[in-house]
Amino acid sequence: MKSTHGDEPPSQDRILRSFEAFPIDLLKIYPRSFCSKNGLWYGLIRTSQGRRLAVVGERSHVLGDLFLGNCYHRSSSLKLCDPSAENTECLMDLFPYTKPVSLRNAPMTIGMGDRLGLATPGHIRAIRKFQTHPVLAQQSIKENVQTGRNFTEVIRDAAWAVFQENYQGGYGADGDHLKSIWEVKSALDAGVSMITLDLSEKIDLEALRQPAEWVDRKFKEEIDEGDAKVTFHLFLDKAFTWKSKEGEFSIRFDEEGVKRNALLFYKALDFTEEVYEWIRLRRKSRSSVDFEISLDGASFPTSPENHFFFALELSHRGVHIQSLAPRFFENFRSVVDLRRDRETFRRQFYHHVLIAEDYDYKISVHSENNPFQLLEQLEELSKGALHLKTSGTSWLEAMRLVALVHPLLYREMHSFALSEWNEASEADRVTADLTRIPKLDGLSDEDLPSLLDQEDCRQLLHITYAALLNAKNSFEEYLFRERLYQTLTRYEEDYWSMLEERIEGHLSILGLKKREEEQPAAIYRRNDTAT
Ligand code: ZN
Repeated sequence: MKSTHGDEPPSQDRILRSFEAFPIDLLKIYPRSFCSKNGLWYGLIRTSQGRRLAVVGERSHVLGDLFLGNCYHRSSSLKLCDPSAENTECLMDLFPYTKPVSLRNAPMTIGMGDRLGLATPGHIRAIRKFQTHPVLAQQSIKENVQTGRNFTEVIRDAAWAVFQENYQGGYGADGDHLKSIWEVKSALDAGVSMITLDLSEKIDLEALRQPAEWVDRKFKEEIDEGDAKVTFHLFLDKAFTWKSKEGEFSIRFDEEGVKRNALLFYKALDFTEEVYEWIRLRRKSRSSVDFEISLDGASFPTSPENHFFFALELSHRGVHIQSLAPRFFENFRSVVDLRRDRETFRRQFYHHVLIAEDYDYKISVHSENNPFQLLEQLEELSKGALHLKTSGTSWLEAMRLVALVHPLLYREMHSFALSEWNEASEADRVTADLTRIPKLDGLSDEDLPSLLDQEDCRQLLHITYAALLNAKNSFEEYLFRERLYQTLTRYEEDYWSMLEERIEGHLSILGLKKREEEQPAAIYRRNDTAT
């Protein structure tokens, strides 16, 4: 690899040949990652030690390069660097597109959680076909605890995957469902470009359930007289009307309605304002952070009235958000019910969109609470401004891969999941009926992957993922975790193809527009900024 200017990128064969001179056990190269910069070649390879960044070039250049790694010198020199925290910082400095950025100017955005840190290349391969921008790192604190990761590692895994796939479109990193300033801080310290504040614990549901006398008394006790005056002035006896091609819809609050909404949200509003101010002061001179409000974790459906009350109050307090996730249904229900509720969902969704449009943010839909059957052609209904979050896909496709290539491991995991069902289902809103899942004994190995198309089985594996990842035997050894990671790594290309297909299917259902020209799928399209 003599060329240092990137004008004539080397072929895959030539890359492979150039590694022959060195005493390394090269298992695989990731051709899309290879590029030249500042007189050196950079690219990802896999050795028996794992995935490594290879830096190739003249000895003096390689020695002057900032990545940390082991050097080999022949007629040219090679340095192999692991994807450590320090090297990730170097990567982000040298290739700035590997660093998460705010996506506030992108109207259509898709968040895809990569729980195990191995799925992102598949996500990228799907989304680069569409007119959208991805949030590639997206984990909640709960998910991080369950998977034994932290935000720094989550972003690190995304950054290397972005480099591997040569994706230069810009991606976001979301600290998802955060519930305290401390959680927000730990996500920001790691470098997230988006915060999703989960208000479920700050919402007082009694305000919706209790009789009018309780509401009157509580309102007097809890709401400051001055604030009450302002709130009544903002809402009482006014008609708020939205006109659209679908017709007109209005919201009007009577005194009881104002009081109920105020009590429902006052702690949530104070907390949102506090976090917003805290982020604003902290990030003053730094890049912007996208701010999402999540109401979808609270166990009541967010009506357009609730949403509007919250939005106007927020705006009155000078708080600007980029997206808000309402809750559309009270419970996670079966697909059959949801089909019946499709029209209700679409009408409500559209009202939420009209409200959000007035305050210049997007509606965010979290697919874990809203099965994909509902989301058909949502892009159009959202007037082209939507954030969609999916989180369980990478896990379920991982299980499908295991069923396909390692039936024995799948059978063990499936049986274990069944034994964990009672405990796991208590903590989660589920409707699965285990008797509808075909018994493993009666299934041949070839039949196993189709279990991942069975709704009850999907829920079973979905809610037991933490138990599966963390299960240990009496010697404190993981029962499945290591074999699962080994399988996913060994068959990574198959895993990425499956994810690509699955996500592409989701985005097509959503009605997302395809790109005229697929973003560089070809190898070596990265420009050399050197010389
Ligand atoms: Zn959510």
